[in-house]
Amino acid sequence: MFALPLVSIDPGDLKGAADSMEIQSLYGNTLVWDDHCGSEIHPDLPLDPLLRPWHEAGVGYLSINVGYDVQPWTRTVANIAAVRRRLEDEAPYCRLVSSVGEIDQARADGKLAVTFDIEGMTALDGRADMVQFYYDLGVRHMLFAYNRNNPAGSGCHDEDTGLTAFGRSVVDEMNRVGMVVDCSHTGFRTTMEAMEHSRDPVVFSHSNPKALVDHGRNITDEQIKACAASGGVIGINGINLFLGETHATPSAVARHAAYVAGITGPEHVGVSLDYAPDIDAGAAVDENTAISGMIARNPEFWPADAGYDDSIACLDVSRLPDVARELVGVGFSEAEITGILGGNFRRVASQVWK
Ligand SMILES: [Zn+2]
Repeated sequence: MFALPLVSIDPGDLKGAADSMEIQSLYGNTLVWDDHCGSEIHPDLPLDPLLRPWHEAGVGYLSINVGYDVQPWTRTVANIAAVRRRLEDEAPYCRLVSSVGEIDQARADGKLAVTFDIEGMTALDGRADMVQFYYDLGVRHMLFAYNRNNPAGSGCHDEDTGLTAFGRSVVDEMNRVGMVVDCSHTGFRTTMEAMEHSRDPVVFSHSNPKALVDHGRNITDEQIKACAASGGVIGINGINLFLGETHATPSAVARHAAYVAGITGPEHVGVSLDYAPDIDAGAAVDENTAISGMIARNPEFWPADAGYDDSIACLDVSRLPDVARELVGVGFSEAEITGILGGNFRRVASQVWK
């Protein structure tokens, strides 16, 4: 059904070959769910190079980032309009879906199911009723703040002043509408208050445990426990800086997954690599909105003393079968791996989306 990447086999090792076939079979039979890609979206980005890597990796569901606090809210609307208009022309292997049932149907049809996410509530332009507007356009989860504070709450690299009255009203509206509350990139106090306030499960779509790597983007055991207590999922991020490695590896992703599972049980762990393909956007993207140099032009969002520089790299999405192998290696069962690769995030969506 999918063009699965081949898992490398040592011809001299029959046991290894058998194991590889088992991994390939396990991976191929699993709904692989990536809850966030790290692309810097722009209305003129070509969509085939943006999305093909996930389809070729056998991923069944991807949430496309359509905006974040670095961009004005009007750009988020333009991004959504462009992706919705051009998606199935430029990437016919994709299908924009609105329900978990449609994800399952898309997978059965060999398609990559996609919905959208937004990183930061600047996109709401100060109005909670924008939640329904974005939901109707395909946005299924939204996080509070992108590293810096905004009217809804605090970012993880800013003064942690907590969830605001506006932020609480947005959580209420997300619960009403069926949009998943996402606490990645958000300050500690804001996340704890949001998880306390939300009636529905809350996720950290792409955040790693701070106990393994002490970085401001990573989250404490207390946050991990509160997320699991809400019924939510912590998606392990594939970026080297947050994994604590020079080169992001599948084994590091498995190590972080095992640590979180040791606190929460495996049913609250997912994998969201934050991967972004290297796209040549060409002349369509003007110099003020080009992807390259985004960090340099907006240092307040990526403080230099937190290690954001040219050495940042993400595990390639094509390595997800190797992540599955490493999850076996750290002791997860087949059923637990099926959950970590997709079933756990799927469970949250089936509980929250309306
Ligand atoms: Zn992010």
